[in-house]
Amino acid sequence: MDAYARMKELTETLSRYARLYYDEDAPAVSDAEYDALYDELKALEEQAGYHLPGSPTHRVGGAPQRKFEQAKHLRRLYSLDKCRTLGEIESWYSKVSAAVGRAPALSSEYKFDGLTLSLLYDGGKLVRALTRGDGVTGEVVTAQVLTVRKLPREISFKGRIEIQGEGIMKLSALRRYNETADEPLKNARNGAAGAIRNLDPAVTAERDISFIAYNVGYSEKEFSSQREIHEFLSAEGFETETDYETVSGAESAFAFAEKVDEKRDGLDFLIDGVVFKVDEVALRDEIGYTDKFPKWAIAYKFRADEMTTVLRDVVWQVSRSAKLNPLAILEPVDIGGVTVSRATLNNYGDILKKKVKIGDRVFIRRSNDVIPEITGVAETAEDAREVEKPVRCPACGSPVREEGAFIYCTGEHCAPQTVAALDHFAGKDAMDIDGFSEKTAEQFYNDLGVRTPADLMSVTASEMAVLDRFGDKKADNLAKAIEKAKHTTPERLLFALGIDGIGKKTAKDLMKRFRTLDGLAAASRDELLSVDGIGEVLADNILAYFADEEAMRELDRLYAAGVTAQAAEQKTGVFSGMRVVLTGSLPGYKRSEAAALIEENGGEVAASVSKGVDLVLAGEAAGSKLDKALKLGIKVIDETEFRDMLGL
Ligand code: NAD
Repeated sequence: MDAYARMKELTETLSRYARLYYDEDAPAVSDAEYDALYDELKALEEQAGYHLPGSPTHRVGGAPQRKFEQAKHLRRLYSLDKCRTLGEIESWYSKVSAAVGRAPALSSEYKFDGLTLSLLYDGGKLVRALTRGDGVTGEVVTAQVLTVRKLPREISFKGRIEIQGEGIMKLSALRRYNETADEPLKNARNGAAGAIRNLDPAVTAERDISFIAYNVGYSEKEFSSQREIHEFLSAEGFETETDYETVSGAESAFAFAEKVDEKRDGLDFLIDGVVFKVDEVALRDEIGYTDKFPKWAIAYKFRADEMTTVLRDVVWQVSRSAKLNPLAILEPVDIGGVTVSRATLNNYGDILKKKVKIGDRVFIRRSNDVIPEITGVAETAEDAREVEKPVRCPACGSPVREEGAFIYCTGEHCAPQTVAALDHFAGKDAMDIDGFSEKTAEQFYNDLGVRTPADLMSVTASEMAVLDRFGDKKADNLAKAIEKAKHTTPERLLFALGIDGIGKKTAKDLMKRFRTLDGLAAASRDELLSVDGIGEVLADNILAYFADEEAMRELDRLYAAGVTAQAAEQKTGVFSGMRVVLTGSLPGYKRSEAAALIEENGGEVAASVSKGVDLVLAGEAAGSKLDKALKLGIKVIDETEFRDMLGL
């Protein structure tokens, strides 16, 4: 294909993608894929020395939609030029420095991924909210923006001022929304854009949109620097980001970007990069604008965390709790430097909600510490086929049982499920059987007929000797490791038993409170609920476990095989039997020191105030916990009384 034909093709394709993204808030490709095509078009245009009409490289955003009333911005809004390397930041910075004849300071801040908004305040009142539209004219979305809870309806500055910022959906709000939505949102960016560009403000309100302010447009108030703008916005009550820096040049700007990139997975909102702006406002007009972006600012884009690819198949895997989990098999795709060929689809209900079919092009999101997830369909394939709901367990052929959105294997001792349960039981944080791996679990299952943890704890060295690649020495060592693991702690045993939802930390918290498995078995529902982190579901799982005769027989068999779970010796002292909550700051102790003193003297430290709490140690500036303690009539002491109790 010659360069002209490719330019034409790219201009058309990108225009279609841009229309779907800006006008319909329903993108067909990921940003990274869009950006790659955009960069290719830009390079071709530079080579050719011209661009075709309608090229996205010379347009800001999308055309304002007729379904909305429209209005002109008092000051034009722009897009941002982009870069991805330190070299590109340096080359931009040297151009900027040349334009002003010195090396100017840069303001570095987050690049929020949402919908650009410009809010006009006049006489101190919010009079109008506009989308960016094509930069000159925007869509009037005042009613929608008024659903933002933390938005000042009035500000103290009484002149005319346009406040620019991003309409975003926090990730916690997205999770909450998707929990009950008939059709889950694919990502927070489209969730926010679709909510604000919706004619019905009631729909906007359901999505719990936030507005993060970061700039001013037209303004009757003068500002000298970006920092001053931030401080003004924050003082006027807008939600702003406090993690921004004024840096001296390209290298420190890059260092800021790297620091932010490291923490971005932990933020409650999406950012797709950072923005560097010449900090001194007076220099900006001197540096100027292109038809698309300010030359005094640039966006440094992070590596992609979302891509699209084809869903080739869905296979069902059995977990140790007998749940059948759908695993998506993908056409391998590079996401931010990592090849992804598998992703999770959570459960069958999730597949139905997301309307995902085999053969479709789907969106995959990947962050560092989470398994890649299919978030929705990008484009449906004509010959796509439905994901079949399993009626039998793919591993053992037993019929399945449905419970809500989940499907379970009903087979007893289904191989992968049993192997996973044995592997979990023997794991580092559970019984800690040194040298026992998933592979060993498979061998024990297949060749020794081991089906339950008690079977495992009863295997002898001579029985193991028949296993493939098990010499006398290895068998002997493993037998010794099993013997050693039999003397364990109650929290390890509890975690090893694999009660649904009981993780390492919860097991520890429960045993701190009930000390032994017998103690836990005797606990009432209310007592269970009073432990931090135990909600109704977990409490019911625990009660169901101890009421299950088969589970109790298995526990007895474990004890018969020699398993003992000794509780650590109970410390005694003035706080014996007491649950204590710490709140406020104590002048004489760090929180951890006070907590250690309470525990050494027999007490238990709880995180929140509830009926089961006996004492609250309140320091300075104690807040809602103290109020609640007083309301519940719980005894409250201060630091002096605390010292007195300890005789210090
Ligand atoms: P942009 O990425 O060029 O950035 C400009 C916008 O950044 C501003 O309008 C502003 O809203 C925002 N921003 C966030 N934080 C900011 C801050 N601190 N200071 C200043 N501005 C800040 O936005 P654009 O012009 O809409 O961009 C094109 C981008 O949109 C592309 O990178 C592309 O990835 C994406 N896009 C995707 C598709 C798709 O199909 N997936 C289609 C079209 C565009």
